[in-house]
Amino acid sequence: MSTSEKLPIVALVGRPNVGKSTLFNRITKSRKALVDPTPGVTRDRHYDRVTWENKSFVLVDTGGIDDNPEDLLVHHIKEQALAAIEEADIVLFLLDGKQGVTPADWEVVELLRRTEKPVFHIVNKVDSPENELELVSQFYELGIDKLWPLSAEHNYGFKSFMDGLCETMPAEAIDLDLPEGTIKVAFFGRPNVGKSSMINKILGEERMVVSDISGTTRDSVDTLVSRGNYNYLFIDTAGIRRKGKTKEKLEKFSILKSLAAMNRCDVAVVLLDAEEGITEQDTKVIGYVLDEGRGLIVLVNKWDLIENDRKRQEEVMAEIGRLLPFVGFAPLLKVSALTGYGIKLMFPTIGSVFRQYNATFPTSALNRLLQDATEQHSPPIYKNKRLKFYYTAQVGTCPPKFVIMTNSSKGVHFSYERYLINRFREGLGLDKVPIRILFKDKT
Ligand code: GDP
Ligand code: GDP
Repeated sequence: MSTSEKLPIVALVGRPNVGKSTLFNRITKSRKALVDPTPGVTRDRHYDRVTWENKSFVLVDTGGIDDNPEDLLVHHIKEQALAAIEEADIVLFLLDGKQGVTPADWEVVELLRRTEKPVFHIVNKVDSPENELELVSQFYELGIDKLWPLSAEHNYGFKSFMDGLCETMPAEAIDLDLPEGTIKVAFFGRPNVGKSSMINKILGEERMVVSDISGTTRDSVDTLVSRGNYNYLFIDTAGIRRKGKTKEKLEKFSILKSLAAMNRCDVAVVLLDAEEGITEQDTKVIGYVLDEGRGLIVLVNKWDLIENDRKRQEEVMAEIGRLLPFVGFAPLLKVSALTGYGIKLMFPTIGSVFRQYNATFPTSALNRLLQDATEQHSPPIYKNKRLKFYYTAQVGTCPPKFVIMTNSSKGVHFSYERYLINRFREGLGLDKVPIRILFKDKT
């Protein structure tokens, strides 16, 4: 059996400069970073999976996600708080101990009172025990039962806060038991782009055994599918849709939940709308897929609407090339969830993305490939010495990661790195997934 974990989402909310990103970094810093060599891909992380003692959760800095300097401050932070209440399982609201109570704090505290979900009111910038009482007492007037004094920067109060946070979490993440080797496929995209229609269309195909296991989930609808010898878990992130909300709010909300689903899928299918084109949110979600190192398939849905419109077809494809140039490896399918156009390619594409994503290669083959590549195109000179590559090995999957030992990792410039990446992709048949190569100095 394999499992699919549903981790609780913990959201950080607060005014700019209260210390959200400092706290985010403190909570997540244990994670070892593997830098993605693809330029334009690495970005500030605003969410991450965290394990503390034996509890795991997804931490999201909502300030980082939709920071909009043009928004009125109070309005903006209230929006953030609302999204967190709706979408997260636990809310961390940061107050600034150095600054004291501000009018925005009052408004947000009022909002947070209305939720049943656990809320931690943190007084940040309490850097030592000496000034704790003085700094914390400023906030008594807000009428909150428990305030958590903390120094995100200097660690004071951190451990007891983390212990308190973890106590509010369920003993175990909700695990869905799945047949061995199940491919987890999540569907992402803006509201109304056609996620549910697409899944329904695919499920309506012949030779498909569908078991609905949505009863076990809260925020996305999961369907287990058997087809031939393979099992798939389809995760529909549209399950979060709620009637009666404004469109603008929904757009924001879906980001948080998308992040959580991103964490538990193998292959991310991102739907674009052929008629409406690409929005900023689409590029963001694709950026997250790349950050997370998931397999990616891009669908241009509602193709039926522009079927006879050559000009629009060219426009939308050009737009994709312009706005998403860094995802050249991802399969791009023109589809219609309504008519079924293009859909028969879905399963083969999911299968090959998944296989490539999990592929492993023998070291001997990799070294031959490296040798051929360097013979055909000599490495450049760096500081009067020719760059040398000694050997290579695979160090990970999902996506495939390789290390190459060199006499000077600093001397490996972008163009030669790009060349090696391309040679590896070609030589290993990895045309549909990103690969990562790490250059290490041989000591
Ligand atoms: P954000 O805008 O809420 O993400 O805030 P940042 O994390 O960027 O922090 C804003 C400023 O507050 C930075 O200059 C931090 O160094 C400072 N800061 C954050 N946490 C603490 C803390 O615990 N103590 C003190 N003294 N300064 C802090
Ligand atoms: P979701 O919010 O992403 O799950 O979107 P839905 O699957 O609920 O679809 C939203 C609307 O778009 C519905 O009215 C669908 O009938 C329509 N729709 C979905 N896919 C297509 C498509 O390929 N072509 C056309 N013309 N309409 C579509």
